[in-house]
Order: sequence, then structure tokens, then C-alpha cells
Amino acid sequence: MKVRVQTLLERADFGEVIHIDAEMAIPEETDDDRVFPEPVRVKVTLSPTGTGILARGEVAGLARQTCARCLQRCDFPVQIPVLIEYRIASQAPRDSDEDVEDWFLVEGEYIDLLEPIRQHLLVALPMKPLCDEDCAGLERVTQDEEATPDPRMQALAELRKKIEEQEKGG
Ligand SMILES: [Zn+2]
Repeated sequence: MKVRVQTLLERADFGEVIHIDAEMAIPEETDDDRVFPEPVRVKVTLSPTGTGILARGEVAGLARQTCARCLQRCDFPVQIPVLIEYRIASQAPRDSDEDVEDWFLVEGEYIDLLEPIRQHLLVALPMKPLCDEDCAGLERVTQDEEATPDPRMQALAELRKKIEEQEKGG
């Protein structure tokens, strides 16, 4: 989603801002099972910084992820603040020491909101999402088979407990 910011760049001293309130579709990545099944709501205010543009606001929507326990696909609401810095090319450092640049380039008269917002969303998603805090997981299916505890597993559990106690003691 590109936004024309020419007026902000030209009139940086006049306190001008641009308010964005829009729906944005987040395209799927082929190697990522985290998807956004419907467009997310983007509410940001763009303001000039002198070296570029600052986008500040929030994004809300639904993320579809795989539950870490039961492996079901579930939708999770996500609502996060966003703060994105854009720099005009002449203000961007040439040789950055930073491994990861935390700003984006102003492309001529435009900024692109899609990629930075997609990154904000993905970073905010939990690494191990649960469909429900009490999700019983895959155990629910095999529960009957494991009703009687396996003696080998029990011995292992006791051994682990002993080691833990020893580590605590030392
Ligand atoms: Zn689950």
C-alpha cells in the first residue's frame, strides 16, 4: 500500500500530517504458515521528521496460526502499535554498522506501508500459539492408550527428579 507523501516532505515546517485509516491485505509467504485471512485495519498518522517520514499508529486484525499443542489451525486476534521510520535517500547512512536496518526508504514521493506493517505483525505473533490456554493438545487423542503409566517412563521421571535435586543442592 503506497501513500503519496510529497506534501509532507515539501511542507515539513507547517505541522502537516496525513491520517490513514484503511484495510490492507497481507499477502501470504510461501514458506510461512502464519497468514492473515482477511485484510487488517491500519490506522496511522504520517508526519515529517526532517530526514523523512514517521508513521505512528496501530494495526488490528486476525492472524491464522497452527496451535503448538493440538496442531489445529486457529485464528488469533492481533492488535499492535506501529512505529515506522522512513528516510529520504539523501538522509540514509551509506555504510551502516547495524546488521538490521530499522528504517525504510522513501521511494520518490511515496512510502510503502505494506512491508513494514507485515514485519511488525509477524514479529508480534507468539512463537508457540495456543488455540486455548487449556488446550489438551494431541494427548487428548491418545489419552486412553496412556491411561496406565508406562513403568519405564516413571523410572525416567524419578531419575530426572533426582538429578534436578542434586543440581539444586550443588
Ligand atoms: Zn490447540
